[in-house]
Amino acid sequence: MDLRENIARVRERIAAAARQAGREPGEIGLVAATKVQTSETIRSAIAAGITICGENRVQEMTAHLADHAYTGAALHFIGHLQTNKVKDVVGRVDLLESVDSEHLLLAVEKQAAKLGVRQDILLEVNIGGEAAKSGVDPAGARALAEQAAALPHIRLRGLMTVPPVASAPGGNRRFFAEMYQLYVDIRTALGDNVPDMDCLSMGMSADFEDAVREGATLVRVGTALFGPRPPMKSRQQG
Ligand SMILES: *Cc1c(COP(=O)(O)O)cnc(C)c1O
Repeated sequence: MDLRENIARVRERIAAAARQAGREPGEIGLVAATKVQTSETIRSAIAAGITICGENRVQEMTAHLADHAYTGAALHFIGHLQTNKVKDVVGRVDLLESVDSEHLLLAVEKQAAKLGVRQDILLEVNIGGEAAKSGVDPAGARALAEQAAALPHIRLRGLMTVPPVASAPGGNRRFFAEMYQLYVDIRTALGDNVPDMDCLSMGMSADFEDAVREGATLVRVGTALFGPRPPMKSRQQG
């Protein structure tokens, strides 16, 4: 596996998809999804040009932070976050992408207030309406955004989604289009109350080009950069 080559290829594909859609490639940030990677691999990725790392699991992230593995890159949390682990994430990440309930939002606000920081967040939307997946449903996203916008220690930066596993290429494009519409609708409706809303995080190795075509500003890519991950005993996001 040649990380440098993989990064270059993914960036080229992002740029090509952006140009096809009449967008500037520079509008799209590449988040390296580093779950199960070692601190050493993360350092190599940053040395090879990765500027944003996305972590899924609090435990792994805490270990990598202790190793100073992320030095030189921004850090995003992209996995399901349990309320009792909020203290391990708030104030330590540049962007918490996965706020998926009012309960979690209020816990993040409380911890950020305690630390005297303002935490940048995205609201995670369950765009496919899957019962087993975390995220607010699209109909509830606007109300939660309104609530987030009113909290003093929260800075609402936008929306994130993990769509259903597509059975065929292109299968998620309509979900990405729906997410973009939701993002625009919320920004329009809340206007000056969400002055910092500039992120739409969607698209993974299998579908990031479609996500870019539909308006993603952040894509989260693991496999296409690092190669296949070993199978996990329990396939959970958190
Ligand atoms: C693992 C993961 C990704 C990247 O998935 P790949 O298919 O390996 O690119 C993106 N987002 C989240 C939330 C993930 O857990």
